[in-house]
Amino acid sequence: MRSRLTVNKACINGLFVAGILLIFASLIGSTNQNNVIAQMVNEKGYELQAMGGGAYAVSSTGYNSMFLVTGDGVIVVDVPPSIGEKINEAIAEVTNEPVKYLVYSHAHKDHIGGAYILPAGIEIVAQEDTLNFLKMANDTERPLPTQIFDNETTITLGNATLQLSYGGPYHQNGNIFIYAPQHKILMTVDQFSPGGTPWKHLATTPHVPSYIQSYDQVLNYDFDTYVSGHGIGTKDDVQLEKEYVADLRNNAGFAISNVNFTEATKSVDKSNNAAVTEAYFNAMTDVCANRTDGNWKDKLQGVGVWTDEHCEKMIISLRND
Ligand SMILES: [Zn+2]
Repeated sequence: MRSRLTVNKACINGLFVAGILLIFASLIGSTNQNNVIAQMVNEKGYELQAMGGGAYAVSSTGYNSMFLVTGDGVIVVDVPPSIGEKINEAIAEVTNEPVKYLVYSHAHKDHIGGAYILPAGIEIVAQEDTLNFLKMANDTERPLPTQIFDNETTITLGNATLQLSYGGPYHQNGNIFIYAPQHKILMTVDQFSPGGTPWKHLATTPHVPSYIQSYDQVLNYDFDTYVSGHGIGTKDDVQLEKEYVADLRNNAGFAISNVNFTEATKSVDKSNNAAVTEAYFNAMTDVCANRTDGNWKDKLQGVGVWTDEHCEKMIISLRND
């Protein structure tokens, strides 16, 4: 497909985020919060955020891990390669308890490719599709899960409980909801970014209806803190992005109903089926994206950047799903 704006095809990764933080901090002086964050990134290479009750978020170069100190060991969720060894340093800041569990949010290497750093012999818990993907990947940096589940399971350790549930592929088959009910923390990874639109192509979901459904699945949890793979937010962030996606869906439907095929393809060589199809989809995408950007300008990060990709994916889904 074509892009309405030129965007960097590389994943917006943490190096970029950290770089912006450092540049920003160096430009605007030494007394603001951004500079504090930048200094923390400089000196330790990570940021450790206490979320209450022994729950912590570890952030580095735009990626998150979470861990729970339970009184009888530590439960870790995800170890991105960009955090790597720093997960052990972060845990050692607050406890001497050993890591006993690691949870995989999903199979992607950019979120669990540092798992091999944790001690051998710990329990690794994941949904069974994640196990299947990791078998195919055959990657020593992503050790295979030792405990798998289909729909849901609960980890109980010390004074903490972590509920794991699979509700469909919001981002990848096997991605899960990770819920700490005592802490009122919910973690999902690569579903959305607090304060922003979904990542490219509706968070690269393999099934748009599952993606749309996942917002209500998340909102049904009782939580105060939302930990994403990139960023930390609240229920309000989830609600706002849900409204964005609902509007996008309406605008995709409007485009399907109102773009005239004959008009949209009138200047295209009719013997070139691919070109005809592309012209038609581009016309629908433009209508959807212009309406969506008009409604959401300055309300979320990412508006005007990935809207065309979201619209095209939504249009394809509305026609086929
Ligand atoms: Zn992912």
